[in-house]
Amino acid sequence: MKGYMLIGGEKIFKDKEIEILFPYDNSVVGTIPDGDEEDARRAVDAAIKGFEKMKELTAYDRYSILSKAARILSNRSYEIAELLTKEVGKTIRESMGEVGRAVNTLTLSAEEAKRITGEEVNFDAAPGIRGKVGFYRRVPLGVIGCITPFNFPLNLTCHKVGPALAAGNSVVIKPSENTSLVVIKLAEILIEAGFPPEAVNVITGYGEKVGDALVRDERVRMITFTGSVETGKIIMSRGGLKKYAMELGSNAGVYVDKDQLVRLDFVSEKICRGGFALAGQVCISVQRVFVHDSLFDDFINRAVEFTKTLKIGNPLEETTDMGSVIDVQAADRIMEWIEEAVSAGAKVVCGGKRLSDTVIEPTIVINVPEDVRLFIGEVFGPVIVVNRVKSVDEAIEKVNLSRYGLQAGIFTDDLRAAFKFSEEVEAGGIMVNEIPTFRVDQMPYGGVKESGIGREGPLFAIEEMTEIKTICFDINF
Ligand code: NAP
Repeated sequence: MKGYMLIGGEKIFKDKEIEILFPYDNSVVGTIPDGDEEDARRAVDAAIKGFEKMKELTAYDRYSILSKAARILSNRSYEIAELLTKEVGKTIRESMGEVGRAVNTLTLSAEEAKRITGEEVNFDAAPGIRGKVGFYRRVPLGVIGCITPFNFPLNLTCHKVGPALAAGNSVVIKPSENTSLVVIKLAEILIEAGFPPEAVNVITGYGEKVGDALVRDERVRMITFTGSVETGKIIMSRGGLKKYAMELGSNAGVYVDKDQLVRLDFVSEKICRGGFALAGQVCISVQRVFVHDSLFDDFINRAVEFTKTLKIGNPLEETTDMGSVIDVQAADRIMEWIEEAVSAGAKVVCGGKRLSDTVIEPTIVINVPEDVRLFIGEVFGPVIVVNRVKSVDEAIEKVNLSRYGLQAGIFTDDLRAAFKFSEEVEAGGIMVNEIPTFRVDQMPYGGVKESGIGREGPLFAIEEMTEIKTICFDINF
């Protein structure tokens, strides 16, 4: 079936199309229009009208509509999950998990719609001021451009449109060209639930063309972006005077302390799951593991033993643990990074082979030099690096040896070590006795350093997606 964009509730078809492929076997899942500057302009025109219509909705209306959208999404879980698997290549179990989280993110956004308030301003606390009373309110920004990546197309889009609509804004969404079909379904659900069709627009196509036009449009008051550091920097250099939220990449580090021998089965399995979920294509995937010297060999033995039990294959089968990466180019790059590390002296102790164009074995590489891309960059593939350290201080130094800082983790029984690690590691979130891959959707989430600007989680995103308006009355007038 021919694919379409959604502008002002209208289905927009184009002759020029892009094929969406199932990454596992390259079969065609569907098509999307190859959108351009004109489509972006029309979508913003519609969203400006949509913003006016949003003003007619009360907080309770926005709460009710978002709650209804969450129910519709929940009722269609399996159908949506199947489409997610076909677009992303993640396993059907992972897709069901993502749909469940998206339902929760919309529900949290609905709840927050009822709690957007301001407070009184004590004007007469300044010298010489009398008879002035007033308050501030949080008001919506207007049109918000939401640009999303391929790895969690549904839940990460909900993290943008949920809070934006809860606060009374209208949106233009530009999803990844690999995973746009599921985002169009989400937009249709939001409109079916009751939002004005002009308030929820989706434009499809390449980031450099249709995405760029959205970013440059001066009528767009904010760009909320999730994706790579490189794209984030381009967007901020081109978008001009507007607000930005940037949820960018990482190469998360985790430390296993010397007292963890008794729990090593549990800890090594958890860490491997954190590295290989979604074939490592999670912004908080475990990438760099630092293990205390005294239990390094035991850790590696257990990690290899567990990793060999993972079932790799067709992500549509219920029993599959890991599917493919997004495309051939991504697989080429990941293999190149592994080979570079090995030539520099690292050793592959598990996996390391490419099983097809897009399927790479879950891979464990040890003793990785700190100047190769597998250590410095964001691998975004099923590879974990495991290096030895001699103390918590050294672990902190190594975790911080990164331009990124999204989340980090430590496994320890030592309260002092846990506290030192959480104080000194530069990251937006620290997980103690948990992997850095842990996230729940209501928590404040985002990075420091090149991992981003701003925080998501509906309560926190709403702060970014509203403006403060101060209102002052002179009661002696
Ligand atoms: P990406 O290549 O940066 O693309 C993200 C989105 O930006 C896509 O929709 C893309 O369109 C669009 N885009 C590209 N160039 C653009 C431009 N010049 N102007 C406007 N839009 C543009 O990222 P990805 O490969 O999809 O996703 C992987 C990255 O996302 C990783 O770095 C990962 O860590 C990060 N991520 C971060 C978080 C977080 O919450 N911090 C969560 C998930 C993922 P196209 O489809 O045409 O490329």
